[in-house]
Amino acid sequence: MKRSTVKSRGEKPSQKAPLVTRSPRTVAQKRAIADRVLHDLQREYPDAHCELDHNNAFELLCATILSAQCTDVRVNMVTPALFAKYPDANALAAARPEDVEEIVRTTGFFRAKAKNLITMAGSLVDHHQGEVPRTIAELIKLAGVGRKTANVILGNAFDINEGVVVDTHVQRLSRRLGLTREADAIRIEQALMPLFPRDSWALLSHLLIWHGRRVCDARKPRCAECVVRDVCPSV
Ligand code: SF4
Repeated sequence: MKRSTVKSRGEKPSQKAPLVTRSPRTVAQKRAIADRVLHDLQREYPDAHCELDHNNAFELLCATILSAQCTDVRVNMVTPALFAKYPDANALAAARPEDVEEIVRTTGFFRAKAKNLITMAGSLVDHHQGEVPRTIAELIKLAGVGRKTANVILGNAFDINEGVVVDTHVQRLSRRLGLTREADAIRIEQALMPLFPRDSWALLSHLLIWHGRRVCDARKPRCAECVVRDVCPSV
């Protein structure tokens, strides 16, 4: 019987964002928008950061696995108890599934997530001396870890910019800002990477996510108060 798992590979189509007639056509036009977006959003959100609470790479990995189909706020409510009981890979690998399920129940898909957490921890113990690996190739072999989660870990725990984290906000804003017409998260990531300096990729995700949560709402974007409205082709 096939077991259910929650795997955030980032292959979901983006939320609908209407393609605009003023969409930039050339790479130079897109780069000009990208430069302004990075500059202005950095000034608007100087504290932009990963909103999943964590103290180390292991905790961030657990929190990111739990964040699939769940808000960061909700994840942050359950992780203190999880990390208190299972502070490292050795402890979590030896956990009883029902105990982990009880702690992560409110994050949704809790059986699959508990199973992924325990299996992931077991892999860290068996293959990585209990440590979180530092490459995408190794990370995506772990249970519950897709490219998006791997990028979150590398960018935020290790300051390694291997790619751009493309979540639902990044998908939506990339399209609204005319940086890509792609709907697939992997293709959006490939479109964004050449437009932004590599050392900004982790920060870029935070900036777009913060702007998406605060101003460029999925249903009702507040364009009148948006700091990049003069370069946004959706206005
Ligand atoms: S101008 Fe409107 S659509 Fe464009 S990024 Fe700002 S809020 Fe979003």
